Parts: sequence; structure tokens; C-alpha cells
Amino acid sequence: MTASCSTFGKKTLNRPKIAVSSCLLGHEVRFDGGHKNSRYVSDILSEYFDFVPLCPEVAIGLGVPRPTIRLVETAPNVIDAVSNADSSLVYSRELREYGRKTAPQLNNISGYIFKKDSPSCGMSRVKIYRGAQKMPERVGVGLYADEIMKALPNLPMEEEGRLQDTRLRENFLERVFLYSRWQAFRDRGYTSRGLVEFHTAQKFAVLAHDETVYRELGRIVAKAGEGDISEACEAYIALLMKGMSVLTTPKKHANVLMHIMGFFKESLSAEDKAELLRLIDAHREGLVPVIVPITLINYFRKKYPNEYIDGQTYLEPHPPELMLRNAL
Ligand code: SF4
Repeated sequence: MTASCSTFGKKTLNRPKIAVSSCLLGHEVRFDGGHKNSRYVSDILSEYFDFVPLCPEVAIGLGVPRPTIRLVETAPNVIDAVSNADSSLVYSRELREYGRKTAPQLNNISGYIFKKDSPSCGMSRVKIYRGAQKMPERVGVGLYADEIMKALPNLPMEEEGRLQDTRLRENFLERVFLYSRWQAFRDRGYTSRGLVEFHTAQKFAVLAHDETVYRELGRIVAKAGEGDISEACEAYIALLMKGMSVLTTPKKHANVLMHIMGFFKESLSAEDKAELLRLIDAHREGLVPVIVPITLINYFRKKYPNEYIDGQTYLEPHPPELMLRNAL
């Protein structure tokens, strides 16, 4: 795999940082001294991101190897992380404290990939045991992950198991690159002009996810110069990240592509227009992936440059070499 585009990839200096459950990177930190290496994370994503490995169970001093822990309802509505070897050993406070202590240190992290099913790292569907006789219910959240999610609601997060789903994977990585751009803007210092520029570049990307959020964001940006700019920017990014977590659909993509086509209508021949329309419709009908009409639009962009369209992150939200849109 080679990275050749100018905006992204191995050759760029600005590689977003992603926090990852250490065991997913092949680190031998699990209870049995093993790992759960994710080849997608360690072989593919490593080309584009710098990783920050974190193992909360090792960090709180449980050691390797160690007895396993599980989530147990120890009192009504009280869920604890309890040792399987000795039920008097409870690690809830340590795991939650470590999460609260770690979250502020993740200020320059653009995403987090958690290990699924773990009583410490799982984001959802972790087994909860409610008494010896009952079957566990998959309704829990790992205690460390819970603290990270509460402290960093804008940070893109996903479990490694869900990254096997091509739509969830594309959505997560689009949000990671977007959040990384936002962090660069934040670190330069919030200005209303900077917010307008950021939003302008993001418009079609948001529209492809959530039209209501797209309109609300426009209202925040329009009023940003009237009050406290930091407050406006914080409100903007919270809503933007919420909107971007809504999955795209072929219908929504087709709507955006029709908007983009409007910018070329003076330049395209009747034949070119008909071909682009045909491909947009084919995508709407689920006959071709979204990359097909986008590839034609990118060809037209080169032929008929348009500053506004060229600035839209929608057309290249992540490195093309990751081929994330080939299955959408
Ligand atoms: S799931 Fe989390 S706590 Fe368990 S080994 Fe992996 S990183 Fe450590």
C-alpha cells in the first residue's frame, strides 16, 4: 500500500494520534499474558496514525498474568469490577480513577479504539453478572471506558470488533480525521473567522450525515461573532461530532453529490452531465459504491477547478489508500 496524496498518509508530518487498548496492538498485557492483536489496527491503521497504547488493568497494578475480573451487580444498580478468583477484591474505584486521571492527558488524541467485551475497556454490551444463578446480561460498559466516554464526549471512539463493519469503520475514521483538523484549529486559537473557514470546508460532509445538524451548525457560526468565541466553538464541535456520528446513506450521498454537480453545471457538456447523473442515481439505487460518482467528480474538479468545491473535506475525508468508500 502506498500513500501518494498530498493531504493524508504516511508521508505527511501531521499524523493523528489514536489511543488504543494495548492488547489490540499485540502487547502481551492480557490476564493470561497473551494479546488480542488486531491486524487491521496494527498493520493498516499504523500507516496513518501514531498510537498511544493504554492498558488500564496493568496501569492500576494488577500485573501480568492476573486473575480475571468481571462486572457484577453488587447492590441494586451498583456495578463493580470484581476478581473472579476472590470476590472480596473489587477494582471499580481504581479503574474509574485511572480513567478520570487519564482523560485530561488525551487532549491531543484524535480517536480511541477500545477492546470489546472487556470489563475495563468495553464500550457496550459487556457481560454483567447478577447473582450466581442467573445468566449474565450483555448490557454493561467497561468501568475505565465509561469514565473516558463521560469525560471526552466529542472524541471519536469505537470498539475494534465494530471496525469490521465497513460503514462503522468509515464513519469512525472520517470522524478521527475531522477531529484532528479541529484540534489543529483549536490549537491555533479560536477566532470567528477561523470557525467560518472550518465550517465552510465541512459543509457537504455534515450534510451527508445529518441535515438538521447542518442547519443548526450554520446558525451557531452565523452568531459566533456576537458572543464568547470559545463558547461558540465548543458548542459547534459538540454538535458537529454528534451529527457526524450519524451514518451516511446512499440517499444522503446522492443529495450531496447533486449539490456538488450544481457547481459544475455551466462547465459540463450535456453528455458529461448525463453520465454524472447516471452514476449518482446508480449509487442512490445501491448499484455502485459512492466512490464511483465521486471519482468522476474529482476528474471534473481537475478539469474545471472550483475553489469552494476543492475546499470541501467531503470529497477526500480520509486517505484514499484506505479504500474506505469502496464498500459504501
Ligand atoms: S482489554 Fe483493556 S484492560 Fe484488558 S488487556 Fe486489553 S487493554 Fe488491558
